Amino acid sequence: MERRRFLKQATLTAAVMAFIKGEVFSAPANRRDFNFKEIRNGVGYFTEQGGTIAWLNAKTGYAVVDSQFPNTAVNLIQELKNLGDKPIKYLLNTHHHGDHTGGNIAFKGIVEHIVAHQNALVNHKLAAEKANNVDKQLFATTTFGKGWRAPLGDERIEAYYYGSGHTNGDVVYHFQNANIAHMGDLMFNRRFPFIDKENGAHIGNWITILDTVVKQFDGDTIFIFGHAKDPQQITGNKADILAFRNYLDSLLIFVQKEITAGKPLSEILKATTIPGAPEWTGDGIQRSLNAAYTELTAR
Ligand SMILES: [Zn+2]
Repeated sequence: MERRRFLKQATLTAAVMAFIKGEVFSAPANRRDFNFKEIRNGVGYFTEQGGTIAWLNAKTGYAVVDSQFPNTAVNLIQELKNLGDKPIKYLLNTHHHGDHTGGNIAFKGIVEHIVAHQNALVNHKLAAEKANNVDKQLFATTTFGKGWRAPLGDERIEAYYYGSGHTNGDVVYHFQNANIAHMGDLMFNRRFPFIDKENGAHIGNWITILDTVVKQFDGDTIFIFGHAKDPQQITGNKADILAFRNYLDSLLIFVQKEITAGKPLSEILKATTIPGAPEWTGDGIQRSLNAAYTELTAR
C-alpha cells in the first residue's frame, strides 16, 4: 500500500521512472514493488517484472493468466491468499516465453490445471531443454488446438487461438462476464514488439489476428496487454489494438519499400522509427526490422 501511494504521488517523468525501475531490480527479494489491482467483476491484473498477469477471483477459486518469474509469482500468490482461502483452479499461459511461464514453478502443488496451446507447450519444452533448465519449469497439463473453455464460479473463461502471431502458440483468454480479454504478447502497447521468428512468428497473420479480435469483441471489452511502454497503459481498448495493427502494417510497408529500393538489411536496420507509426518507441526496433526483412524475403 505504502509503495503504491508513493508511485501515485511521484512525478512520473522519464527520469523518475528510470530511477524506480533501477530500484526494482536491486530491491531485496521480499520488497513489495508490484501492482495488484482489480479491474472489474473480480478480474484484475498484476504487474511487477515481465509480462502482465491477469487474475480471476471467483466464488469457487482463482484463475491466473501467465506467471512472470518465480520471485514475482510468489507475490501474486500471496495477494490472492489475502483475498480468501480458495483453490487456484487454473494457471493459463498465453505463450511459452520465460517472462510469462518462468513463474509457473511457484504454482507447483497448489494449482489444479495448467493450460496452454499445444504449440506453446512444444516451444516451452524445447526452450527449457536448450537452456538446460527443465527442472525449473512447470509445464502445461492441458493443451488444446483451436480453443478451450471452462466455467469458474459465475465466470466463463474462453481461450482462442488464431494461428501464428508473436509466436506460433499465442492465445487470447477472455473472461466473458467481466468482458476482459488478456492479449498476451499479441499486444505491445506503444512499445517495439518482440517478434519471435524462431518460434513461428508471422507478422502478416498477426495483422489478421488483430483484425479478428477487433471484430470479435465489443466496445465494452477491456484488453490486458502483455507489455506497454507506459505502466499506466497496461490495459486499453480496441483503439489501442488498431494502433498496434497500424504499427505492424506500417512496418511491413516500410521494409518492403526499402527492399524494393535495393537497400541491404544493414542499411534498413539503421532506421530509428517506423514511418506512419511514430508512437512506437523504446528499445529493440531492430527486432521488428529483422523479422519483417526475414518474412518479406522468404516470400
Ligand atoms: Zn513473448
